[in-house]
Amino acid sequence: MTTTVPTTADDLSLWPASTTEDAHGARAVGGVDLAQVAAEFGTPVYVLDQGEVRERCRMYRHAFPDGDVLYAAKAFLSQAVVRWMDEEGLGLDVCSAGELELAVAAGFPPDRIVLHGNAKSPQDLAAALRLGVGRIVIDSPSEIARLAAAVRDGSQKIMIRVVPGVVAGGHAKIRTGTDDQKFGLSFTDGQVHHAIARVLGQPRLALTGLHCHIGSQITDVEPYIVAVRRMVGLMARVRDTHGVVLHELDMGGGHGIAYRPGDATLDVTALARALRAELTESCTAARLPVPRLLIEPGRAVTGPAGIALYRVLAVKRTGARTFVAVDGGMSDNPRPALYGVRYAPRLIGRHSTAGPSTATVVGRHCEAGDVLAADAALPGDIRPGDLLAVPVAGAYHLSMASGYNLVGRPPVVAVDKGRSRLLVRRETLADFQARDVGR
Ligand SMILES: *Cc1c(COP(=O)(O)O)cnc(C)c1O
Repeated sequence: MTTTVPTTADDLSLWPASTTEDAHGARAVGGVDLAQVAAEFGTPVYVLDQGEVRERCRMYRHAFPDGDVLYAAKAFLSQAVVRWMDEEGLGLDVCSAGELELAVAAGFPPDRIVLHGNAKSPQDLAAALRLGVGRIVIDSPSEIARLAAAVRDGSQKIMIRVVPGVVAGGHAKIRTGTDDQKFGLSFTDGQVHHAIARVLGQPRLALTGLHCHIGSQITDVEPYIVAVRRMVGLMARVRDTHGVVLHELDMGGGHGIAYRPGDATLDVTALARALRAELTESCTAARLPVPRLLIEPGRAVTGPAGIALYRVLAVKRTGARTFVAVDGGMSDNPRPALYGVRYAPRLIGRHSTAGPSTATVVGRHCEAGDVLAADAALPGDIRPGDLLAVPVAGAYHLSMASGYNLVGRPPVVAVDKGRSRLLVRRETLADFQARDVGR
């Protein structure tokens, strides 16, 4: 079976804007030759184009000039990313004491951080209060009294996570806008009204607004518009019932990006325009002041800025199939196994004149489901020792990575203006042994 290898232009659409390729197949990102990165830091290795991350932050700030853009830290977080977000004027959205402590230790202003989580631990809440996070998003009824009791002096600003009843998102496991999943308080069964009433009765909690996050990998503007309309409806009801006008509306993230040539992406500028128009219209109709808009992109900020580099370890031709096995896999990228995501890996570092063929790119782990790309278009002469690059690897890879098979999580190398710099070192056997304390 053969397919056409995507044209270079088509292929490059997934890659950072700084990507270049010469006639010998040498591909560079941020002015740094990727084969050079692999040689210097070993494989697998993750490359993050600092300029691309920053450019994406600027694009968001430009699209939402009078709103707050919060980067969803769970997509990928490190000290350097924290610093870039701070310098680009973004806020941060965190889901645990760990993400929160890392950000604050790296110098991020806590008042620009929002804490989420459907099941916040006592440690999460204690860290949030001790460090002074800007907002805590209430996600369950029991959290209200727990949080109120923990606030020592003054009051804590909070939002309430609402399930607006909107179906959106690229896969059932990343849909969070409807009542049949664990996040948020339901519109339909009255839970959210109950929670709002209880929060308003707590002098230690200051409700600033409402939050929703309807899913991930959403490529249409429409679900967001439906959600905004419902959220404004709820804000009007809060005003009518309690005489309280809320001044913030957080519409979450979930902005879809392309993983393979031809995949749909969400047009962020169109989203911003449509959100603003709908918000103005709905608020005018409800005679409400237009609230400050917050958004929380994660994937769309760092995803397209990352490249995973793997070394081919084995090529196995069985019947009609060619398996190309690389030196990483589900321990550094669990997304294919979790959501059935497929990537567009590409041979780099040498120019091949062999015709294209379809290969199944698999990882090195002891699971048949450890498949990185089921139908990758690679040159027919792909062989052990070759380098494969997987674009769009900057979000939800390393942040979801595991210690499976004690392979060790790969390092992260930032590239920018012709220079490379280690951000996160490789996890070693010594790291595993250090944790293994019983005998
Ligand atoms: C995961 C998450 C986001 C970011 O989602 P992306 O798909 O990465 O944009 C934003 N807000 C909340 C509450 C989330 O859980």
